[in-house]
Amino acid sequence: NQLGDDHVPIGELLASPLHLTAASPLPAPEWLYGPAPARRNSTGLDLAVESMRAPLLAAGAATVVPAVPEATAASAASAVQASAASYRQWHKTPVGTRAAMLRQAADALQADLPRFCALLVKEAFKTWGDAIAEVREAVDFLRYYADEAERIMRPVALPGPTGESNELRLTARGPWVCISPWNFPLAIFMGQVAAALATGNTVLAKPAEQTPAVALEAVRLLHAAGVPADALQLLHGPGETVGAALVAASGVAGVVFTGSTQVAKIIHRALAAKDGAIVPLIAETGGINAMLVDSSALPEQVVDAVVQSAFRSAGQRCSALRLLCVHEGIADHVIEMIRGAAAELAGGDPALLATDVGPVIDTEAFDNITRATQRLGAEQKVLLVPAAPTREAANFIAPAAYEVDSIDSVKAEIFGPVLQIVRWSGEPSAVIERINTLGYGLTLGIQTRIDSRAAALAAQAHVGNIYVNRNIIGAVVGVQPFGGEGLSGTGPKAGGPHYLYRFCAEQTVTINT
Ligand code: GLU
Repeated sequence: NQLGDDHVPIGELLASPLHLTAASPLPAPEWLYGPAPARRNSTGLDLAVESMRAPLLAAGAATVVPAVPEATAASAASAVQASAASYRQWHKTPVGTRAAMLRQAADALQADLPRFCALLVKEAFKTWGDAIAEVREAVDFLRYYADEAERIMRPVALPGPTGESNELRLTARGPWVCISPWNFPLAIFMGQVAAALATGNTVLAKPAEQTPAVALEAVRLLHAAGVPADALQLLHGPGETVGAALVAASGVAGVVFTGSTQVAKIIHRALAAKDGAIVPLIAETGGINAMLVDSSALPEQVVDAVVQSAFRSAGQRCSALRLLCVHEGIADHVIEMIRGAAAELAGGDPALLATDVGPVIDTEAFDNITRATQRLGAEQKVLLVPAAPTREAANFIAPAAYEVDSIDSVKAEIFGPVLQIVRWSGEPSAVIERINTLGYGLTLGIQTRIDSRAAALAAQAHVGNIYVNRNIIGAVVGVQPFGGEGLSGTGPKAGGPHYLYRFCAEQTVTINT
C-alpha cells in the first residue's frame, strides 16, 4: 500500500494562491448552483462569480506533482500477494456492507466537490465545467455500482425437477488490476475501482502517471469509508514497468483497462502468455468517431453538437468527434458556421471560469497533436488552423479543422481538438459502411430529421454509443452505458447493467434434497 501518513495533503498540492486560507475560503458547494448569472460561458457556468474565484485560481495550469512513491516491479508483485490475502476476507463481506461503503464514499465525494474540482483543474487541466461533470460522474459510478452489486449478487433459485434445488449465484474472482487514464482521472478511476470492490474483488489500482494526486485522494476517500487498505492498493508509476508487472503477476484474477488500443492489445497478449488461469480483460479504448449529417439536418443543432463533441475537453475524450461527414448540399453552410462558432471559443487557462478549451495534458500530447496538424495542414484543405501553437503557452492547442477527400484517408485517432470534415453525396448507408470499415466502434452521431433513416443507420453501424440529433460526448452513468466494439474495446459497457457480471464468476449449486 502506497498511502502513508507522509502523503502531501491536498491543500499543499494546490499550492498558493489556490491554497485555501481563512482569508480566501473556497466557496461552499452552493456557489456552483447560485443565483441566476449575468453571463454564461459555453459550459453554462456563472461568470458573475468568476471574480470571486480568480484569486483562488491564479495558480493557473502549473503542474502538481505530489510526493507519491513509485511502485517497482517487485513491490507490484508483493502488492498482488497482499491483495490475494485480503481477498479472502473482503469477498466474504456482505454485498450490502460493501455497497454501504461505496455510498459513504459517494456522499463524502459529493460534499467535497469543490476541492476535487480544484484538484482536477490543477492536475488534469480540466475546465471547471468538465471538472464538475467529472466529480458528479464519479459519484454516480459509486452509487450505481453499489446498487447494481446488490441487485445482481442475490442468488437466483431456478426451477428444476422435484427433489432437487438449483441456485445460480455470482461470486467475486480475486485481485483485479485497474489501469485508468489521465483524461478522466477521477471518474474512470473510481468507476473501475468501485465495480471491482462492489462485487467483492480486491483492487490494485494503477492510475495514469500524469494524474497521481487525483487517484491518491480518491483512494483516501474509499479507505476512509471503510475499504481495507490491502483490499484497495494504489500503485503509481509507468505502465511499461508497474502496469506490466501487475498484469504479469501471478494471482491476478482480472484486468480492467481504459487507454489506447495498442496498449489494450499488449495487455491482452501478456495475459494470454501467462501460466495458470485464463484471465478476463475489460478494455475500453479509442475511436475514430464520426458524425453523419444529411441534408435534412438542422444546421444550428449540428454546429452546436460538433463544437461540443470535437473541441470540448480539448478533444481529449475517447468519445470525441474526429470525423464529420456532411452532405454536400449543406456542407458550405455548416462548415462556415462551425468556423464561426469555434472562433468564439475561449481557449487557454483552465483555471479561469470563462475558458472553454484548456491545454492538452502534457508536452508529449502537444507534440503528437502538433505533428498531426502539421501533416494535415500540408496535405489537406485547412478550415480552421491552430494559430502558431507554442509549448510555452502551457500546451494549449486551439481548435483545428481540415477538409479531407475521403473517410478512408482518416487512419488514426488524433487525441486533441482536431476535426476532419468530409463531404458526401449519394446514399447515407454507404457512408456508414465506410465508417464501419475503419474498424473502430465507440461513438457515432447521426443528424437527420428523417426518423426512419436514423433508425436504419443506427442499426447498420457497428458502434457502441450512437447519438441522434445531439452531441456525442458525456455518456451518463446508468442512462447511456458507455463502451465500444472492434478496435474500441471489449465491452461490457461501463455504467451499464451488464458491466458487473464480467467482474464475477458464476456458480450453479444443485442440491439433491
Ligand atoms: N464517457 C466519456 C464520454 O462519454 C468518455 C470516456 C473516455 O474518454 O474514456 O464522453
